[in-house]
Amino acid sequence: MYEKLEQCPSCKHTQFNNFLICKDLLASEESFALVRCTKCQLVFTNPRVSPDHLKDYQFSLDMGNQPFLVRQTYKHLYFSFYKEQLKSVFNYSQPTNILDLSNHHLSYSRFLSNKGWNVTSQPFDINNQDTFLDSLSKDKTQTYSSILCLNTLQRIYDVKRVIKLLRKKLNPEGYLFISLPNYQSIEAKHSQQSWPGYDVPRTQYHFNQQAFSIFLKANKLNLIDAIPITTYGRYLHFIQQLVLKEKISVKRLIEKTRQSNKLAKSDTADHSMYLYVLSK
Ligand SMILES: [Zn+2]
Repeated sequence: MYEKLEQCPSCKHTQFNNFLICKDLLASEESFALVRCTKCQLVFTNPRVSPDHLKDYQFSLDMGNQPFLVRQTYKHLYFSFYKEQLKSVFNYSQPTNILDLSNHHLSYSRFLSNKGWNVTSQPFDINNQDTFLDSLSKDKTQTYSSILCLNTLQRIYDVKRVIKLLRKKLNPEGYLFISLPNYQSIEAKHSQQSWPGYDVPRTQYHFNQQAFSIFLKANKLNLIDAIPITTYGRYLHFIQQLVLKEKISVKRLIEKTRQSNKLAKSDTADHSMYLYVLSK
């Protein structure tokens, strides 16, 4: 049911430090240890739940019982987050053939399709990781001008195999877009084990900018840009309040928005998410 990693999944180093103990507040109430590789700084769950057992840890946020204003706020925050990521994609790519792996109920694919993009959807399925990998490996000759992997890579167990496949599927002039939460963000440091970005045991890997740049180098990908996604912090803060069953305060959310906007203007801030634009 559990598997222990003896090597860092990114750089194969064998020395880790204890990082945090996090509780699964959404499903099992079980606690999991996060460790940090002393060489590349990747943080990962260790020991972790074996992929076959992850289905025992699934949940869905029940918004139906929430007051109208809270449901509307959730919708607004989710769509702001979703649009901010796509806006950055549009700055780099014109409508073209695109592969979308993002696990967001196909919402990105649908949106892009409506905008005239030629979309192939292979959404990541956390409970069927082998099937996902098999379908991704099937057509080796098909390549894409853009590949989208938004808020998803951190949940894929065999992350190295996936990144190799994506590299092969990318046109020489194409862009690969990957968004990832940042465990070194101000919000993560402040919230510690209750930062929703850790989401144990469903999320396996946590990158900061350095850990991700080492991972990219090892996988022969070039970093073109790292774009802060400022709406993610607000979205996570809202989820955190729901999970901790705190009373949702719209006033506090507005305050949080102001703080995030201020943070976004600062060049030195460690934002809660980055959208990485990559080429090969
Ligand atoms: Zn490492």
